[in-house]
Formats: sequence, structure tokens, C-alpha cells
Amino acid sequence: MSKAKGYAAAVKDAPLAPFSFERREPREHDVAIDIKFCGICHSDIHQTRDEWNEFLPEPSIFPMVPGHEIAGIVTAAGNKVTKYKVGDKVGIGCFVDSCRTCPECKRGLEQYCAVGMNQTYNSHEKDGSPTYGGYSDKIVVDENYVLRIPENLPLDASAPLLCAGITLYSPLRHWNAGPGKKVAIVGLGGLGHMGVKIAHAMGAEVTVLSQSLKKEADGKRLGADHFYATSDPKTFEKLQRYFDLIICTVSADINWEPYLFSLKVDGAMVLVGAPEKRVPLGAFPLIAGRKSLAGSGIGGIKETQEMLDFCGKHNITSDIELTPIQKVNEAYDRVLKSDVRYRFVIDMASLKNA
Ligand SMILES: [Zn+2]
Ligand SMILES: [Zn+2]
Repeated sequence: MSKAKGYAAAVKDAPLAPFSFERREPREHDVAIDIKFCGICHSDIHQTRDEWNEFLPEPSIFPMVPGHEIAGIVTAAGNKVTKYKVGDKVGIGCFVDSCRTCPECKRGLEQYCAVGMNQTYNSHEKDGSPTYGGYSDKIVVDENYVLRIPENLPLDASAPLLCAGITLYSPLRHWNAGPGKKVAIVGLGGLGHMGVKIAHAMGAEVTVLSQSLKKEADGKRLGADHFYATSDPKTFEKLQRYFDLIICTVSADINWEPYLFSLKVDGAMVLVGAPEKRVPLGAFPLIAGRKSLAGSGIGGIKETQEMLDFCGKHNITSDIELTPIQKVNEAYDRVLKSDVRYRFVIDMASLKNA
């Protein structure tokens, strides 16, 4: 075992504080990674506060070192590792292992593993030891669950691709966003801003549906063709039967029906944000026009690599604000107020001063 340090929530709702723990020595298929940057995902906040307990298969595990948008450099590789070598730029996303034998794992859909993927934190390794995430100085992961970050992309702004990026890329690919398709991104936050960039690079016509017009200039800079305020009743009148695909990134409780009416026949609305409350929904907005209401969660390893390569080719990264780890609790408060454009990334060099 080797000593590691990071920041953890000691118990539910506790502010994050310095925490020492151990990482395993690399096994034959493992790579050891020096973590340089880790994005702050809204789900880190939900999980340190144990707000998803009713949806997760097991109780949350404390102390919890969050972080699943990890970017770093390989420092050691086990003797059977073939994909990576010391010095490579790599990333780790939301999971570090899965059963590898169920139909989903075999199809490259490890995120939907029938047994349950081994998540990067707040979960267990196959040997039963708890997983600790990326708010830390290093991590050891099986090479089959490590991603390659393209040489031309900076590590700091690439970190959020590992969760926010793939969360948007996967449904955009699955529902065939591309030239001739009209795509709406609901909400322009950490997830939404990645959706605008990626859908635009795929060649789709992109519309942002945001509560107000406050971020309109930003949305257009990121690649949106149109920008509408959902608080304006004229918006949905104008957009009847307009979109092929709507991706909803917000976790606020909203009325989905006007969105469904803004889909064309055979259109789909895909949820990637998770409202806490159940949303009542009538059948007619779906029946009228053979529409689908669907959900999508992150992506498998193969698709995550495809997303990173796509972002490398189109020079896409996240818009970030770097923060030292000592300010992580303040960053959480600001995320909850949507006061960041558009993703906090922790500079792990700051851990040296912890
Ligand atoms: Zn995330
Ligand atoms: Zn599986």
C-alpha cells in the first residue's frame, strides 16, 4: 500500500477536510496515476450530503473522498499493462471497474452493468475495499477503465469531459445529433455548456432553452444558434414541433409538457439531470406525435474514449474556474448557486499545502 492524501467528508453533511488514506500497489493490469486536476460535479455534493440514498443500491460510505472527473499522468504500470506507459496523459471517469461479463459490459455499456459498476467513489472495489475518488493526489486503476486524454488538450479543462462531457456526448450520439437535426439543450450549466459545444461540433442546429436570457451571449459564444427564455410564454408557442431532440440537463422541478410539445413527430426528450421530486406527466404530449421521453447516464469506456478523441479533434474542453482544494467547500456553495462558468476544477498542486 502507498500513502495518499486528499479531502473527504468524514460523515454525511460534514464539510470536506484533509484526509490521509492508502492506495493499493499497482497489480499487473493496473496503472498508478498522479492526479493533477479533478472537476467538481454536482453529484459530488449530492453524495457527500447523502441526498441520493433512496436511489443508490447501498448506503453511502464515509469518510467519502469525492471526485470522478480526474485528469493526471501515469507514474507506474503493472507488468501486464499494454495500453499505457509512464508519462501518458490519462483520465478516470465515474467508474473504475464493472463485472465485465454481463450483456451490458460485453456491449461496452459498463455504465449500465447488470451487477452494478464499481464507482470511482462512494462504492467498493471487487475485493470489497471502499473506493476513494479524485479529490486526492493519486489513484490506482485497472488499465481497461483508464481513458487517454488527447495530447492537444490541456489537462485542467479536460477533466470535466470525464463526466459532464460524456453525459452529453452519449445521448447526442445515440439520438443521432448531426447536420440537419435541431437540438435543444435545456439549462446552460456544467452539463449544458458541454452539450452546446459538442452538439455544435457534431453539426446540429443548437438552441439553448434557459430560464432567462442572462447567458445568451455566452450561449452563442459556445456555439448555440438560438437562445430562448423558458420564462417567456411566447417561447413555447413559437417552438411547437420544432426540435428533433431535447436534452434536459436541469435538476429543478419543471413542467415537461411544453417541452414535449416542442418536439417534432418521432422526436425525443432525454433527461440527464435528475430532479429530486417525481414529475407528474400526462400521456397525450407523448401520444400526439409518437414522441419519446428517455433518460441517459454517462457512457461506457469505449464511448468515453470516442468522446475524448472527438473533443481532441474539435478542440473542445470545458470552460473552467480553477480552485485550490482548500476552497472546495466555498466552491460547493457557489455550485449550488449556479455561480460558476461553467465548471470548477481543483488544482491538485494545492494539496501540497494541505
Ligand atoms: Zn459527475
Ligand atoms: Zn457488467
